[in-house]
Amino acid sequence: MGGSWAGLLAARVLADHADEVVIIEPDGEGGLGRGAPHRQQLHALLSMGHTQLDRWFPGMIDALVEDGAQLGTGPAVQYYVDGTLKAYIPDNAMVGATRPFLEEHVRRRVLALHNVTVLAARARGLLFAGSRVCGVRFSPSDETGSAPALEELDADLVADAMGRSSRLSNWLAENGWDPAPMDRMQVDLGYATASFHRGDELPDTVVAHASPGPANGYNQHLSEPGALVAVEGNRWSVVLVGYSDYRPGSDPEQFLLRMRRCVAPIREVADRCSFDGDIETFHFRESQRRTFTRLNRFPGGLVALGDSVASVNPAYGQGLTLATLGASSLSAHLRSGTSPRLPAWDYFRRLGVVVDAAWQVSTTADLAQPHVTGPYPPGYQLIRWAGDKVVEASVIDPAVNKEFMDVVNMRKHPRALTSPRVLMRTVRVLARR
Ligand SMILES: Cc1cc2nc3c(=O)[nH]c(=O)nc-3n(C[C@H](O)[C@H](O)[C@H](O)COP(=O)(O)OP(=O)(O)OC[C@H]3O[C@@H](n4cnc5c(N)ncnc54)[C@H](O)[C@@H]3O)c2cc1C
Repeated sequence: MGGSWAGLLAARVLADHADEVVIIEPDGEGGLGRGAPHRQQLHALLSMGHTQLDRWFPGMIDALVEDGAQLGTGPAVQYYVDGTLKAYIPDNAMVGATRPFLEEHVRRRVLALHNVTVLAARARGLLFAGSRVCGVRFSPSDETGSAPALEELDADLVADAMGRSSRLSNWLAENGWDPAPMDRMQVDLGYATASFHRGDELPDTVVAHASPGPANGYNQHLSEPGALVAVEGNRWSVVLVGYSDYRPGSDPEQFLLRMRRCVAPIREVADRCSFDGDIETFHFRESQRRTFTRLNRFPGGLVALGDSVASVNPAYGQGLTLATLGASSLSAHLRSGTSPRLPAWDYFRRLGVVVDAAWQVSTTADLAQPHVTGPYPPGYQLIRWAGDKVVEASVIDPAVNKEFMDVVNMRKHPRALTSPRVLMRTVRVLARR
């Protein structure tokens, strides 16, 4: 259920195990997930996302680059903290491409699989046989009335990839099952993405990402947070972000004004390049995650992945990578030989590890914002203090920065940053300074 990023990845994995995989998506085959407004915002694919994408679609990164995506490695990928360029990491890599471009490539590869089809329809509920889900109730997607005609589709395994607005919890409750407990954190983040014509400026830059330093929480007067990415079609994609009532709007003059308070590469694009289309805005109110392992009972034949499980502050660029890791967890679960008709506890445990990691990265940083008021995890002050010191050291020391970026890129769990080795090096680096 759902044929955007997570649904496509789930279909890819399930195609290795099922006779037939049916993607139920209201937008149908020609426009899977096109309606979702957040797809127009700048989307970064983290290093772990590259690895996973190439795992499920061998040669995909090369194909993206061949078709116009920009591959940034080494010094072409720049991270700034409070306007200072961070220490250089040789093996850093990022693909510069828009979300529709990335998704279109994945969509083509998934729909080329002989056992995957798309049903242009909207899922409306689950079918149950005793304690397992045995199918989906759906209506043809053009049925918009209050009582649309419903049809049924049998299935051994149903995957919820319906994004943040998934109605899975309601459907479980309607059938006597507890919904997974949900954690929320108010973030109140404004996003604005604009596209610029790209010429010969900044030939050695693919990504320039600027964030506020740890001590400053969020201080727009030091250097505006934002990012610049070279994408397909000789364009720059620029995103500006702001919390609470400092959200960026769609006025071009204001957008350029804010770009001119960003780091040098973003200022240069503001000065030298012209807009290519409109400024798209988005308001992200809260991070949320559902923890299925906190349930005592759950029906067999049912899994969930992508934003329907966890949707965290997009400023850390984790969503696509989290969904690909969800698909890989599903693959590991099915390869273990477990019947898909049984409750997928093992899958939800595997998924929980990566969701916890993503949640920890985004919420620890968000709690530093003055307008974010909790809930605070146990030991938050200590975690925050140590984290701030590691960020400070990562600005000047390549080894600490490598560890830090491995966590940011979801290649390592955040606990790696509190290992004695990293903490000792952090102490030495800061003492020397
Ligand atoms: C402003 C913003 C910026 C972001 N930036 C980044 C970034 O830089 N990097 C990154 O990795 N992530 C980013 N993300 C997160 C990323 O967009 C999400 O994690 C990703 O979209 C999750 O994909 P999904 O398939 O789970 O959900 P979605 O993309 O929301 O797709 C859900 C799909 O389900 C379908 N659907 C809904 N209801 C039904 C139904 N009843 N029946 C059938 N189908 C249904 C919808 O039509 C849609 O196609 C950002 C998010 C936002 C909001």
